Amino acid sequence: MAVTDLDKLVKYYHENKIAHVYLIETNNLNNCLNDLKKTIKKLFCPNKYEENCNKCNICNLIDQNYLPSLKIIEPLGSNIKKEQILELKKTFSSIPIYTKNNIYIIKNAEKMNASSANTMLKFLEEPEENILGFFVTNNLNNVISTIKSRCEIIKVFYDNHELDIKTVDNPDNSKYLEIAKTYIYKLEVEKKDSIMYNRNVLLNELSEREDVKKVFHIMVIIYNESLNKLLNLNNEFAKFSDLDYLLKLNYDDVLKRLKLLNNFLDNLNSNANLELLLDKYVIELSDRNE
Ligand SMILES: [Zn+2]
Repeated sequence: MAVTDLDKLVKYYHENKIAHVYLIETNNLNNCLNDLKKTIKKLFCPNKYEENCNKCNICNLIDQNYLPSLKIIEPLGSNIKKEQILELKKTFSSIPIYTKNNIYIIKNAEKMNASSANTMLKFLEEPEENILGFFVTNNLNNVISTIKSRCEIIKVFYDNHELDIKTVDNPDNSKYLEIAKTYIYKLEVEKKDSIMYNRNVLLNELSEREDVKKVFHIMVIIYNESLNKLLNLNNEFAKFSDLDYLLKLNYDDVLKRLKLLNNFLDNLNSNANLELLLDKYVIELSDRNE
């Protein structure tokens, strides 16, 4: 777990070297948000903060998202709206209670549109002493550059192996795991009518872009584990024993697949047309098989 960069913030804070606003890039938004809240507890816990402090009012309020001086903004629908930023400005025009600073966290900062970003910029240009801001994103490239240029950038990346296995073990994801397995089987073994699989296996079953993303994320996990098995590294490929045929692939084949999957996921984050992306994936995959 790479929480070290967040831990540095505690040090900077006590040395009075903390910036007004940070932009945090992470590969796991929810984990990062939890760790960020932990960092905020460390800054403001009146006791010497210990893991799971439940002695103090402030840590309790942070846990329950009720601390008046901490505002977490998430996209409403597909965007962070100008109104949300105006609301924040209004709330923070008063002096913080309980903590020395007012703190805001903008989750999915890449979802700010031109008008919310503009409103935010005015806020950033007149920084008040007692406001501390955090933008959190899973893709730095998609954050509006005027915001980016005003932030200190830090990266909080998590070792995915453990998280990944949790993803496939989570019963909430069993549907996506089954779809991923079927899709892989069709593409790797059946191989005919490849483009039809996108419709029959994926698009007819999954209504949201986010759902397709989950299936592809699980595919990355599966190919990663097969690669680890191939290399005799620690792996959990036994969990996918019905996909044993993947072990016939050689190292380069698996790497190429992982590369295509990662390209797909990157493009998916950038609003490209879903069907076109899926077709592209299948075509590039079969190109290589010939
Ligand atoms: Zn505490």
